[in-house]
Amino acid sequence: MKARILTLLTLVVFSNPIFSQNIESPCSHEAIQNRHLEQNPNALEALEATEKALQEIIQKFRTNPELKSQSTYVIPVVMHVFHFGELGKMDMEQALSGLEILNQDFNGLNDGWNDIDPAFDPIKGSLDITFCLAMIDPDGNPTDGLIYHEDEQAVYNEGDLFQHAWDNYKYLNIYFPKYTQGGPSDFTAYAYYPSTIGSDNNAGGIFYSSIRWGFGNHSILDEGDDWASVCSHEAGHWLNLAHTFSNGCSGLGDSVDDTPPCLGGTIELSGCENNDFSCGEHTNGSNFMDYNHRCKKMFTQGQVERMTAALFLPSRAPLWSQANLEATGCSNLNTANDNIYSTNQIRTFPNPVTNQITFEIEETAILNIYNVHGQFIENFVIKNKNSSFDISNYKNGIYFFSTMTKENRKTGKFVVNK
Ligand SMILES: [Zn+2]
Repeated sequence: MKARILTLLTLVVFSNPIFSQNIESPCSHEAIQNRHLEQNPNALEALEATEKALQEIIQKFRTNPELKSQSTYVIPVVMHVFHFGELGKMDMEQALSGLEILNQDFNGLNDGWNDIDPAFDPIKGSLDITFCLAMIDPDGNPTDGLIYHEDEQAVYNEGDLFQHAWDNYKYLNIYFPKYTQGGPSDFTAYAYYPSTIGSDNNAGGIFYSSIRWGFGNHSILDEGDDWASVCSHEAGHWLNLAHTFSNGCSGLGDSVDDTPPCLGGTIELSGCENNDFSCGEHTNGSNFMDYNHRCKKMFTQGQVERMTAALFLPSRAPLWSQANLEATGCSNLNTANDNIYSTNQIRTFPNPVTNQITFEIEETAILNIYNVHGQFIENFVIKNKNSSFDISNYKNGIYFFSTMTKENRKTGKFVVNK
């Protein structure tokens, strides 16, 4: 019975045609999934198997919470930029801007996090995950994680962009043609669900129009525009989230218990003013997985549970393993496996911090500070167990610290929020 329900679920979820294209739609995920199913005879069966595995992981978490081996994850990222001369050539500053938005959104550090509709504030959820721009390439050489490919067709997402993929079991590949739909359009991006078939063929990841990624001289978005958070919508798909409006008002929905059904794919809400009761319930219009792209603020706790389970699928778990983080240069950001972090043996306060931060540690130590991209910033010497430092020149964002002592590597993180 369960298998039949799952079959029905995936059929309904993935056989829906793309919702009306005459509205501004940030994501063409469903059309891409339909294409994927048409072109790959085994894809539907694989999707069903993945959903079954995912539900089993969720059930194990619910009955044995300690099975969540860690509550923090680091995902190495490579960004492929497709350009022709200056056409489509996003620079590093803009690339990092988009990555910063992605990390802030997932960690509940986005501007809208403290301004959520009271109807949904109690169920908002964050995931302790860091998307880290890789510092080591598949051959073991240093990289800045931003790879340029000069290709006149690929600028328009034409041709085989997957030929440039880095190992999908080691890196989240994000592809940046200038346009994802062959030319100027309102479609911004699409992403692939977890799939071992996809990863085996290096045919997964996220495709994203570079003119709507982050803020910068190549972006058409105004600073602060919530449309930039479509990156979090796509990463949600990459971690197996469906649209909140999947299956309309039917009971199947998006396979998440706490997201109310809605018809959000076919209607436009007005910014964050949510007057939509399209399925008789208050629509969670500020959800990252809606199409309400001018107002993106939150995942629900149910969505976070589903994404956490997806991180344990065979196509995702290898990415955040300690061995892979060391192989890709992202291990400095991994606070999960350290046996001291989060105990009272190392304290950081205040956190979030504005201008001055204090560390408390049991012994004299040198703390190395890294930004969210794994780049070293500076080090602090902690003496007398308690030292304060001026960080007024730090930009808003997440920062990591680590120290090596004889027995233990101690790590942690703090947030600068001014
Ligand atoms: Zn989508």
